[in-house]
Amino acid sequence: MCDSGVLSPLGYRLSTGVNHLSILASSPLPLLLSASACSFFLQPLNDLLSHLCVVYHPDYVAPLPAGHRFPMPKFGLLKELLLRDRVISPDQLYQPGPPPQAWIQQVHQADYVQGYCQGTLTPKAQRRIGLPWSPNLVKRTCTAVGGTILTAKLALNQGLACNTAGGTHHAFPDYGSGFCIFNDLAIAARVLLSQALVQRILIVDLDVHQGDGSAWIFRDDPRVFTFSMHCAVNFPRQKQTSDLDVPLPEGLEDEPYLQLLQAHLPDLLSQVKPDLVLYDAGADTHGGDRLGKLAMTNTGLYDRDYQVLSTCVGAGYPVACVIGGGYDDNMAALVYRHSLLHRAAAVVYRQYRL
Ligand SMILES: [Zn+2]
Repeated sequence: MCDSGVLSPLGYRLSTGVNHLSILASSPLPLLLSASACSFFLQPLNDLLSHLCVVYHPDYVAPLPAGHRFPMPKFGLLKELLLRDRVISPDQLYQPGPPPQAWIQQVHQADYVQGYCQGTLTPKAQRRIGLPWSPNLVKRTCTAVGGTILTAKLALNQGLACNTAGGTHHAFPDYGSGFCIFNDLAIAARVLLSQALVQRILIVDLDVHQGDGSAWIFRDDPRVFTFSMHCAVNFPRQKQTSDLDVPLPEGLEDEPYLQLLQAHLPDLLSQVKPDLVLYDAGADTHGGDRLGKLAMTNTGLYDRDYQVLSTCVGAGYPVACVIGGGYDDNMAALVYRHSLLHRAAAVVYRQYRL
């Protein structure tokens, strides 16, 4: 059945389990087509199944000391949940590689990139990041950046694609902050611009925290429009100036949140007319989030993601999604919250017949 004429999301025929996606990166990237993917084609199609591309790598999960407050296991568990609930099938998973260091340096200073990768940052700079350095974390950081670049390129080809990590928007050119080391959104934007794949990008950052790093990086770059809707009284204490900031009051609930989004997004799209939207779908706007301070529900999160994706895709703008922040000791609840993005994306993908 694997060789029965099924086309991959990029239109390449799947026969060997290896898809040559050389247009997507500097080197061919393998498609994760496994034996279980073959058996999938023997089963009846579930209503939710689509050919939405989802980007994941096992290196997204790097070991942290026991009890560390960053919920590292969520990335692997998210991929597992998407497969278990048949939101996606294994043949929809794409595996990124780490980007060349020169790509990271299109945003970050060379001494910071080398210092981080070699573990020679000062203890103060390391503390500001909030994650203990390890070679595995370096690999994870770079691979996740590669994942967002791949997601962006898949979105340009397909109209919509989702990473299962990403959204490290607090990283500045010469330092990291708030669990963010390299700014994946900014690097993906610069790489696509430098490869002349796009001329104009809109970053829609709906993580509960302001996208301060992205705002600063693109403060004088008219090719990238930064839009951040975030809780006004949350981290970072010192906000930067995005092209459009919509600060939200503490405790804001679903309905007023969605109305505010509706009041801004359609106009923004017609004003910016981006070649690509980079969407940071932070799940930390949820009322149960440990670091959030807003009061959205799962229904509200799904409606928000559906609203963003259907508004953009419906108007013809491709969207690359990253999952952004999300913090909860209840790992199952947290992973489900993040999966709402992919569930909404699968529905939009089918509705618009991408
Ligand atoms: Zn956040």
